[in-house]
Amino acid sequence: MRPDILNPVFAEVETIPGVGPQVAKLLAKLGIGRIADLLYHLPTGVIERLKVPAASPSLIGRNVIVEVKPFEMRSPRSGRGPTRIVAEDREGNSISLVYFNNSGWAKKQLPIGEARIVSGKLEAYGDEWQIIHPDVVEAGKGPEPVAREPVYPLTEGVTNKRMRELAGEAIERAPELPEWIEPSLAAREAWRPWRSALADVHHEPDSRDPRRRLAYDEIFANQLALMLLRQSQRRHRTVPLPGTGALMGRLNLPYQLTGAQQRVIGEIHGDMAQQVPMLRLLQGDVGSGKTLVAVAAMLAAIESGAQAAMLAPTEILARQHFDTLSKQLHSLGVRVAILTGREKGRARESVLMGLADGSIDLLVGTHAIFQEKVAYRNLGLAVIDEQHRFGVSQRLLLSQKAERPPHLLVMTATPIPRTLTLTQYGEMDVSRIDEMPPGRTPIETRVISDEKLGEVIDGLGRHIEGNGQAYWVCPLVEESENSDAAAAEDRARILRQRFGDGNVGLVHGRMKGPEKDAVMAAFASGDLAVLVATTVIEVGVNVPNATLMIVEGAERFGLAQLHQLRGRVGRGTGKSICLLIRGPNLTESGRARLALMRESNDGFRIAEEDLRLRGPGEILGTRQSGEEGFRVASAEDVEDLAPIAQSDAQLLLERDGGLAGERGQAARICLYLFERDQAVGLIRSG
Ligand code: ADP
Ligand code: MG
Repeated sequence: MRPDILNPVFAEVETIPGVGPQVAKLLAKLGIGRIADLLYHLPTGVIERLKVPAASPSLIGRNVIVEVKPFEMRSPRSGRGPTRIVAEDREGNSISLVYFNNSGWAKKQLPIGEARIVSGKLEAYGDEWQIIHPDVVEAGKGPEPVAREPVYPLTEGVTNKRMRELAGEAIERAPELPEWIEPSLAAREAWRPWRSALADVHHEPDSRDPRRRLAYDEIFANQLALMLLRQSQRRHRTVPLPGTGALMGRLNLPYQLTGAQQRVIGEIHGDMAQQVPMLRLLQGDVGSGKTLVAVAAMLAAIESGAQAAMLAPTEILARQHFDTLSKQLHSLGVRVAILTGREKGRARESVLMGLADGSIDLLVGTHAIFQEKVAYRNLGLAVIDEQHRFGVSQRLLLSQKAERPPHLLVMTATPIPRTLTLTQYGEMDVSRIDEMPPGRTPIETRVISDEKLGEVIDGLGRHIEGNGQAYWVCPLVEESENSDAAAAEDRARILRQRFGDGNVGLVHGRMKGPEKDAVMAAFASGDLAVLVATTVIEVGVNVPNATLMIVEGAERFGLAQLHQLRGRVGRGTGKSICLLIRGPNLTESGRARLALMRESNDGFRIAEEDLRLRGPGEILGTRQSGEEGFRVASAEDVEDLAPIAQSDAQLLLERDGGLAGERGQAARICLYLFERDQAVGLIRSG
């Protein structure tokens, strides 16, 4: 139960006088629903306004505060265009005050002949000076526009002024909280208490120390939660699965394991031989051969008399794994089955029975495989492929399910910077595959303007004529799957007109599983030359003959995502090409990101850069789900503070494992403040 002291923090915004359903709805767009959200909706900077006696050319482009007298009103001709109220400053310069809407309000605020103090950005417009939508107050009455003003992220209908008032109200209501930061650390950093730090940041957004303190709180809550998770996992006992190596030895591989694969398989087998359940994250770039590592782990489980289950994030991937594994393992006598949302009726029943009576050794599927109704006779190992859609709370659920939790291997193809590993997977041991299978030809990446779309399509035509296959990925248009799908449908239609219906397939997230599978299967077997897709193909799909990847609207994708997409090609012996098509209005960072893609094939380097450019939440695709993203902590904060927070959390738990002492209690409050309620449930009692 959340402690009472936090009640005001978690009160709804509508408890603020003047905030009704209308405003609440606007605030919701900014992710603000409770006082806590207001407290952590921090200003991003300040505008400095210069108080000046009069306008002058050197002030163009600056924010000014100046006293003027309106002398002429120019209403828009024909009812269109802005209203211009022309005023003069004390030195007789004319300044137009321009309003694109609300002209009635403007006329009232700026009566002809009366002195007003206006503030806003002074601009040159032709040979006139103007200020667009200035703030206005009567000279000598009311507060003057402030010279330094924190600026908040806003949405239409909520002004900065309003946001400042709301923030002020929220701070007013925030209680003083007991200190959870290790005293020596707080002293060394000269950090002020939580509430003062919040107030400081809202007043002076650039003040570094208070902001760092707030970031630290957030990271500390994260580290403490992960540490609690780790501890609770380590208290469990399970059945050791030492394996014999017999099955792996009989596996017919057309290639040798890489050194890195051998090493991580050794680490995994070492864990599985223990009574403490394995909790290991396997990182390896796209194409580094993680599937085989999973197979080695699963075979060890099966040899030891247990069942293994492998969870894939999408149905397409589950089916692909199922196909590969059943072929690969058939001759070994390993019985493989699949379970997704699609297996229904008799098919589902028979899988459930096989799991219960142990006649199935290995189950592949989507999240359906860990549902309540799925009972295993003897689940010894769970493998989770493509981790980044599987967050901490899901891992928590999985671990709480079983009395004897299975050994857990989590695999991710997103190379994760070290510090992020700490904040996202801090409870796990980490293995890295840092070597690619030999003989891969590097993928050539080119960035092309969308003005040359015609040439790209011509090139695609030549590629197809030479019996090549290609992916065509359409960007996220909006946040909705529907508009994505529509864009992909349009693109498919155009390409079909050109290359024939039978040559171009389409998959998107709105399609049903069986439809998607049929298209994927046709592409994998070479019946389709082109696969038009939204990012559903991002993770894991393996069609070695496809050697051309075209990504439309490439600037709208994150770097890690582009790297994933590019990883769909370069899987066979042929040379592969990745064409990144960019739109017309590239930002500076968009340009930098695409250039980096062109230069580098190194997933870890790209991930580090992505972290720097976009922040942690987005890399892991967690921002949308609101799972592990940080509100305050920036990438640099994480880099800088996570190791400190980790050892701090560890030390605290060593001294006071039940979090019962004074600081322990404060740390509980910190966990609740950052909504790590589940983690509180893991605190050891007594
Ligand atoms: P990912 O790590 O992205 O899941 P996969 O496991 O799908 O990669 O492997 C990519 C491709 O590399 C597959 O076709 C697989 O058969 C092949 N592969 C895996 N290990 C090796 C190896 N040691 N040598 C050569 N090819 C390998
Ligand atoms: Mg894979």
